[in-house]
Amino acid sequence: MIHTPSRNEQITRSRSVERQVTGNVTTDGAGVKLTRVLTQSLQRRLDPFLMLDAFGSDQPDDYLGGFPDHPHRGFETITYMIAGRMRHRDSAGHEGLLENGGVQWMTAGRGVIHSEIPQQEEGVMEGFQLWLNLPARDKMIAPWYRDFTAADLPGFTTGAGVTVTVIAGESHGVTGAVTREATAPLYLDLHLPAGARFTQLLPAGHNAFAYVYRGEVSIAGSLIPAQCMAILANDASADGVAIDTLGEANVLLIAGRPLNEPIAHYGPFVMNTNQEIYQALNDLRNGRLA
Ligand code: MN
Repeated sequence: MIHTPSRNEQITRSRSVERQVTGNVTTDGAGVKLTRVLTQSLQRRLDPFLMLDAFGSDQPDDYLGGFPDHPHRGFETITYMIAGRMRHRDSAGHEGLLENGGVQWMTAGRGVIHSEIPQQEEGVMEGFQLWLNLPARDKMIAPWYRDFTAADLPGFTTGAGVTVTVIAGESHGVTGAVTREATAPLYLDLHLPAGARFTQLLPAGHNAFAYVYRGEVSIAGSLIPAQCMAILANDASADGVAIDTLGEANVLLIAGRPLNEPIAHYGPFVMNTNQEIYQALNDLRNGRLA
């Protein structure tokens, strides 16, 4: 859905880059090769975000196994497919085909068991999976699921020629596909032409990061290369971020309000206490998770 931006988001001072992170190359599921950009050690710093995985390969052996049946409880997963086709099925009865430019938003809540299986035997598979925490009061809510095709996702182009897809939150007066009250997540995919600047207002208390997946950008004087995440400083005197390019670049810009609650993370479960993790394991063992 193409929208007209209702306001030009002017900022007075950009956040600076606190740290650059390249992540860890690893495998998950049935041997899917990926880069874990946001790792467990950054969960406090980037609260309410728990994980960001980037996957991208034209070698079928890197992705064919997919992610067979596995459980989740206590948070939300947001899968953004840049290229490729993946089929999702879950225990709540949801099924969907995720492909080129589509987003799948799944709230695991009290529990789902799902599979994510590639529907291609060759070609490029590229995308991202972001984990967003749920507040303690919502961890045991009923599961929820939505598929958005590329055409379903709100988007706009700025005066500087930056194409913006608003997966969550609000940018330049355009409201995203999903909004969440507790964590107010912002999730933008930015396609910047050469020599462009993109500005986005960010509440000072919200944690924010940018992940450059093509090209390179400059943020407040720091050069951020491709496949690098820039953690943006929570500078009280900055009211947003300005992202500049020399050449073309593609960037995910992600921000949210921290929950400031205890995080107990074990595999596919993210709760507040170890007791709740044991409960999840017991529920899974006894067939009560989903
Ligand atoms: Mn999963």
